Amino acid sequence: SSSAGPSSTAQSQALFARAQAVTPGGVNSPVRAFKSVGGVPRFIASAHGAYLTDADGTRYIDYIGSWGPMILGHDHPAVREAIGTALNGGTSFGAPSAREVELAELVTRLTGTDKVRFTSSGTEATMSALRLARGFTGRKFIVKFRGNYHGHADGLLVEAGSGLMTNADGPLGAAAPSSAGVPQEYAGLTLVTEYNDPAALDALIAARGHEIAAVIFEPVVGNAGVLIPTPNFLAALHRVKASGALLIADEVMTGFRLSLNGATGLLGLEPDLSCWGKIIGGGLPVGAYGGRAEIMEFVSPQGPVYQAGTLSGNPLAMAAGLATLSALEADPDIYARLDVYTARLAAGLKDAAAAAGVAISVNHIGSMLTAFHQDAPHGSVSTYTQAAGSDTAGFAAWFQGMLARGIYWAPSQFESIFVSAAHTDTELAATLDAAHAAYAAGQAP
Ligand code: PMP
Repeated sequence: SSSAGPSSTAQSQALFARAQAVTPGGVNSPVRAFKSVGGVPRFIASAHGAYLTDADGTRYIDYIGSWGPMILGHDHPAVREAIGTALNGGTSFGAPSAREVELAELVTRLTGTDKVRFTSSGTEATMSALRLARGFTGRKFIVKFRGNYHGHADGLLVEAGSGLMTNADGPLGAAAPSSAGVPQEYAGLTLVTEYNDPAALDALIAARGHEIAAVIFEPVVGNAGVLIPTPNFLAALHRVKASGALLIADEVMTGFRLSLNGATGLLGLEPDLSCWGKIIGGGLPVGAYGGRAEIMEFVSPQGPVYQAGTLSGNPLAMAAGLATLSALEADPDIYARLDVYTARLAAGLKDAAAAAGVAISVNHIGSMLTAFHQDAPHGSVSTYTQAAGSDTAGFAAWFQGMLARGIYWAPSQFESIFVSAAHTDTELAATLDAAHAAYAAGQAP
């Protein structure tokens, strides 16, 4: 339907004003505040399939997918039914229950890991995996990569990507730590090197490998915008293991997103530990970490590394995760379909930008995509430093152009968008129409 003029944002504005009075910045997670793109954050009233509806009744094609979990689309019938069934049996027990066993069996079978422990967020999963790595190796240093985000545990808020690239007041890539409140002593235990720079990683491991407990990495980066690992970098990651440091794949974003075994399956990685979140909770709060039995047996109560959670293994979250992973496994073509949609989206964006004379550089893999506003060959942005060279003002203008045309893109240049199985040719055509107009509008004098 056609409407005259822009949709109202009155309800979102009113809610945002109330929210700002009672919540820092009016949001419960920073990137939602639209700080880098400006404008009123849309307060969402409901979500179905590929669509969000905001508090003013405006509908958007959603490319956030709750930042990854909603791979089947919002309000998927099987997930909804599973949550409903679980709900009839109570919402939390504080005691073990069958669904935790079933989801652990499913995750370990699909990912080829021996044992898994559920948490309630990705942050807890990575934090716990690092504690485990330190407990297992008896070493204290960890290595992370510039622009990779692993949640907000103190020692991981060091050059930590998207939210911090978007919101930090200092220059991009400012000195570690990247949050106030993280003691230098904590940050000092985190060594940072450049993603996709195998020589730098080799040199770091040669110099300090004997004191490093773990190297944690995003196997495909989503949190600096999409960055895809080069074969040489993957080989260097595997060489880390010879030093006795554990290789920790943070698959919170990529797990069950890029394949039924995440990036690990797609790229032939063999990490010692993996972290999951997002999709394994089907839109409810979940995280998990897992790996070889000899390492996982160090976790309490079997071993000496403590980790716990009041709501860990929550029955509703387990039910949503089971339904989501089961639906993915039951539909072997789903990843190919997501891939085709995303490839067509990428091609259409390139055409639209070129037609308007706007320079973009598109990275995409599976159902993840970032269009960096910069003049570089498509697929060539592979480091944080390159990503940070994007025209964030140009991106912000385009983002607003898309939003005004009913397309809810990720509100930061340094994020991936997420395509879901509910996105069809109809949504693709509408998205590309909007993209043509938004790129063209950005070039108007
Ligand atoms: N690791 C990665 C790779 C992530 O993308 C995220 C969240 N975006 C996290 C960890 C943290 O997960 P959570 O927000 O559930 O704590």
